[in-house]
Amino acid sequence: RIIALAAAGAMVLSMGACSAAGGTGGAATGCNVGITMPTRSLERWINDGEQLKKQLEEAKCTVDLQYADDKVDQQISQIQNQIAGGAKILVIASIDGTALGPVLDTAAKQKIKVIAYDRLINGSPNVDYYATFDNYKVGQLQGNFLKDQLKLDSASAPINFEPFAGSPDDNNAKFFFSGAWDVLLPYVTKGTLVVPSGKAPKSNDEWTKIGIQGWKSANAQSEMDNRLSSFYAGGKKVQAVLSPNDSLAIGIEASLKSAGYKVGTDWPIITGQDGDKANVKAILAGEQSMTVWKDTRKLGAQVFKMIQQITKGEKVDVNDEKTYNNGVKVVPSYLIEPEVVTKDQVQSKLIDSGFLKAADVGL
Ligand code: BGC
Repeated sequence: RIIALAAAGAMVLSMGACSAAGGTGGAATGCNVGITMPTRSLERWINDGEQLKKQLEEAKCTVDLQYADDKVDQQISQIQNQIAGGAKILVIASIDGTALGPVLDTAAKQKIKVIAYDRLINGSPNVDYYATFDNYKVGQLQGNFLKDQLKLDSASAPINFEPFAGSPDDNNAKFFFSGAWDVLLPYVTKGTLVVPSGKAPKSNDEWTKIGIQGWKSANAQSEMDNRLSSFYAGGKKVQAVLSPNDSLAIGIEASLKSAGYKVGTDWPIITGQDGDKANVKAILAGEQSMTVWKDTRKLGAQVFKMIQQITKGEKVDVNDEKTYNNGVKVVPSYLIEPEVVTKDQVQSKLIDSGFLKAADVGL
């Protein structure tokens, strides 16, 4: 008990020292930032949050970083607390892009600037800037990868293909799907790609019908289990899967394994996005064909720059002022380029750049 108390005391002391250092600097520079991220369940958000927090603290900003377990109400109360706690800038990676209107009204009344991080916040005039990757391009890279690997322009027999889409409440998911579907739908229409489950949207707008709520691996797995057991009887094999991201790909890959698919014999081509460790291992093992890598360090650096520009009253750098209409306004955006990583590029792109450690992926 004494030891526990002493440890708690030491913690309080060190926390006090920490916030005093940050607090003084933050107050002096007017840099007080609240960051809210959707979940710790995906590696990328942990990296995103921690990288940005570190950079801001080094610049003597006061920072509060929160994760919301993918629960909308929890994220709203975290933002409310940050507003009450004196934040001057809010950086928000939203869970439901349409649910933050009222809390952002409160922020606007206090002249707090809002940066939508990675995901657009819809339906509110109080979103000042948006920093993200080129989300349409992410999908386009996935679509073109499938097109090239499957040689869709010269394929002599129809290819069994299953498309998936991301969470219906995430504005990005629509862009990912549109980018991929603009490439792939013509081949579905022509019959080069056949979708035995029948789950092929007839237009980009129908994507929510195949959206996996909450981007959950388990939901993707059970959806794939259902498709395989209902539509792939009698030895029919799926040959390609459009997975919009890595968390869905993990579920789809687990489903294929339990259905008896084997790498090197009948394993299909599968796309992904993010470069999560588990998926990079899957790429090295031949279970996933690619990932669209978004170097989250670049996104963090861009948002850090935006925060500095806002704090100093300078013009904020944006490079896109037409794409991201949130229903109320076009939000000035900064888009970063995503890139494809395949097995033979894991070392050169992900490890050599320091994004992942060799040991993380068993290299
Ligand atoms: C992000 C992706 C991520 C997905 C699930 C999207 O908004 O852009 O990188 O895989 O959310 O968290």
